[in-house]
Amino acid sequence: MARLCIKIILLKIKNFLDMSTTKRVYKFGNKTAEGRADMKNLLGGKGANLAEMNRIGVPVPSGFTITTEVCTEYNQLGKDKVIQTIKEDIEDGIANIEKIMGSKFGDPSNPCLVSVRSGARASMPGMMDTILNLGLNEGVIQGLVKKTGNERFVWDSYRRFIQMYGDVVMGLKPESKEDIDPFEEIIDHLKEEKEVVDDTELTTADLKELVTRFKKAVKDKTGMDFPTDPWEQLWGAIMAVFDSWNNERAKFYRKLNNIPEEWGTAVNVQAMVFGNMGNTSGTGVAFTRDAGSGEDLFNGEYLINAQGEDVVAGIRTPRQITKEGSVRWAKLATVSEEERQKTYPSLEENMPEIYRELDDIQQKLEDHYKDMQDLEFTIQEGKLWLLQTRNGKRTGAAMVKIAMDLLREEKIDEKTALLRVDPARLDDLLHPVFDTKALKSAKILAKGLPASPGAATGQVVFFADEAEEWAAKGNNVILVRIETSPEDLRGMSVAKGILTARGGMTSHAAVVARGMGKCCVSGAGAIKVNYKTRMMNIDGKAYKEGDWISLNGTTGEVYEGQIKTMDPDLSGDFGRLMGLADKHTRMYVRTNADTPKDSKVARNFGAKGIGLCRTEHMFFEGDRIKAMREMILANDEKGRRKALDKLLPIQREDFEGIFEAMHDLPVTVRLLDPPLHEFVPHEEENQEEMAMEMGISIEDIKAKVDELHEFNPMLGHRGCRLGNTYPEISETQTRAIIEAALNLKKKGIKAIPEIMIPLTGTQKEFMLQEEIVRNTAEKVFKERNDRIEYLVGTMIEVPRACLVADKIAETAEFFSFGTNDLTQMTYGYSRDDSGKFLPVYVEKGLLKVDPFQILDQEGVGQLVEMGTRKGRSTNPKLKVGICGEHGGEPASVEFCHRVGMDYVSCSPYRVPIARLAAAQAAVKEGK
Ligand code: ADP
Ligand code: MG
Ligand code: MG
Repeated sequence: MARLCIKIILLKIKNFLDMSTTKRVYKFGNKTAEGRADMKNLLGGKGANLAEMNRIGVPVPSGFTITTEVCTEYNQLGKDKVIQTIKEDIEDGIANIEKIMGSKFGDPSNPCLVSVRSGARASMPGMMDTILNLGLNEGVIQGLVKKTGNERFVWDSYRRFIQMYGDVVMGLKPESKEDIDPFEEIIDHLKEEKEVVDDTELTTADLKELVTRFKKAVKDKTGMDFPTDPWEQLWGAIMAVFDSWNNERAKFYRKLNNIPEEWGTAVNVQAMVFGNMGNTSGTGVAFTRDAGSGEDLFNGEYLINAQGEDVVAGIRTPRQITKEGSVRWAKLATVSEEERQKTYPSLEENMPEIYRELDDIQQKLEDHYKDMQDLEFTIQEGKLWLLQTRNGKRTGAAMVKIAMDLLREEKIDEKTALLRVDPARLDDLLHPVFDTKALKSAKILAKGLPASPGAATGQVVFFADEAEEWAAKGNNVILVRIETSPEDLRGMSVAKGILTARGGMTSHAAVVARGMGKCCVSGAGAIKVNYKTRMMNIDGKAYKEGDWISLNGTTGEVYEGQIKTMDPDLSGDFGRLMGLADKHTRMYVRTNADTPKDSKVARNFGAKGIGLCRTEHMFFEGDRIKAMREMILANDEKGRRKALDKLLPIQREDFEGIFEAMHDLPVTVRLLDPPLHEFVPHEEENQEEMAMEMGISIEDIKAKVDELHEFNPMLGHRGCRLGNTYPEISETQTRAIIEAALNLKKKGIKAIPEIMIPLTGTQKEFMLQEEIVRNTAEKVFKERNDRIEYLVGTMIEVPRACLVADKIAETAEFFSFGTNDLTQMTYGYSRDDSGKFLPVYVEKGLLKVDPFQILDQEGVGQLVEMGTRKGRSTNPKLKVGICGEHGGEPASVEFCHRVGMDYVSCSPYRVPIARLAAAQAAVKEGK
């Protein structure tokens, strides 16, 4: 007891010491920084890169970063405790900013304003909150007007601050989805009263009026006055940013991208620089390469006399940074060269010196990070400042091209290039494209910007939550919005494509769609959306909710109706990447395929054989089911053999087709697995038909169906339990396989069958089946006076099989882990019923992920590892693979590599993903 007390006291002292010695705030500014790029876990991506940019001499406004650990403390200990622990550090941080900027926070005679910015370890663009222009009040305003001599700018900044702070900290948000933002509504009213269209047309007096109305709205809604004390504002904002880690959209984004809940966000407090100080100021976003296509072309968008979010929010049409980009844009937007130069000049033409500096910096940043960068910058009265850099989000196609280009440019090596591509994103490249012929006759409705490549066809829906509802019912939807916001994320993720009327290539819609690998056309100005009537109008023609349209995200075209699609071309960089993967991988990849068509698709994607060919599908089609039913309903072996004789030629033909498609490569054929009652007729009508066919009474059929009923079919009469009770089934299937292979041999085609016994749990179960297979094969060889090579092995999917794997492997020639069933049986979760509780388990954090999607390495993985190890202990040549759904899931593939499997097998369209994931596993192991 006493020892326990001492232990607890020691622990408390240790905690206290940790609390008091941990560094919680990291300063940066004036080309020095306490943090570094490799401190993302602690400083968040934004904070780490702000520090790094300082270190390499890029102009960045000074500031400090509050660590992600403080966010965790905030969630655990609460607000007051956290304020107490960081108060001194924050005051010190502000003092440092004041020193560098030569101004004072909250001092009307020489004020310093700051932004308070969120920033997690992994970039979550727009998901959490940021507040600009903090530190303003009526007193500071006077000082700032004097300092800048620009009254309009000051009031514009103030109204923006109230808007952001009112939303983020004080909670003034739209009340329903049809409503617009309460502040935007006030602006719209005032604009109507003043008869102006653009925000920029509002006069200083108008802006003052806005401030008054904003403050009144705040008071009316919250009962509180808008805070005037800058320190109160600062603490409110810092806490709100911590809170924003837990807002709904951030939570959803984390789920979508597998970002752990416990990471927390850092908070960056940074001196403000102003892009809204007049015509020598501006703000923009840029990419060092094209995020859609991957082309090595510096590009981006900017606005003159604007602040931060304006470019991304799609409120004004942004201009292009480079002349090249501007000319390309004008062509798409059908703007004449004359008008382009006059109204939409590029930054390169408009501010050549700033442009040159920016171009130098973008190159410097890309060279430094050796990857495509996504930058934010602001120009304040002719001086350029960088506010953010990060590895840019990109489409799957761009991901591949950029990695291959950087390799060609010798900026990264082969292994790094392999690791640069997220295997899951290869999916984007495999998506269908529009059929070129169908496209020619299609009617173009409008043209927008090619914001995210791909082809999409679907029904128009105007609200994100309704997109979810429609999609849940199995509809293909195109989400059409004036512009999108982070609130729309869920709807965007289920839509086939996204179309916006406003916003450029860096608008929210565009960036998020590219990140999701989803087709998007943005800024299609010809489209007039009316949320209230749920209609859109294009050139005088109305389209309502539910109408079909098609989008081409590669060209920006919007078409009427549905358009046919075709397979994409997969040569070039994709081929090169796959070649690299093969060079560095240890495991190879097979496919799960039951038809010649799937086999061919998989082979084109580089499958080195079939890892799982299920035979039950072969029995369902057309008339075959009748013969199958006859077999099942038969009363004795003789009756079963009669029916099996009908099935033999059909099966043989199916195998010939598959073996031929996979010639020279191994094909693992699994003998019949599912419970018999799945095949028998349950409807009266079918029962009658079967009775006629077999010449027995319908009562007999009904009795037989009842007899086959099982309480727990998943654990019932299936797998090798079928073959061991009705050996003639295994016999016939073996005969079909071997005869098919011999038939092909005659035609000069080499088939390499591997016969797989399903659901083995004991050594004897396997040995009895093996005997049937080998005896039958020998019999056929004798009949035909010819032979072929084949293997006999088993699927490992019953936990017991893993425990006695050494025994089974004494005669088995291969193991293939059936991790779907193995997961089901290890957890005891019925795959057919888990829908009722698994989502809740994941939601509540009882499980991190669905173990049927991502292999549970901790539990099920132990069995897989043990099965492999034990199996090889008695049979060193044992071939080991996986054929469960997990075989195409990158994290699970990596695990399979680590336990020493020879191959993974997955569905045809996942083959490239698995090839890359397997190579990455090998590369990571070597590092
Ligand atoms: P997000 O994570 O949503 O991109 P940011 O923290 O990057 O949010 O800020 C939003 C916008 O405000 C960006 O355009 C950014 O460049 C701008 N911004 C942030 N801090 C400052 C600052 N100190 N001075 C000028 N602009 C800023
Ligand atoms: Mg470049
Ligand atoms: Mg940003």
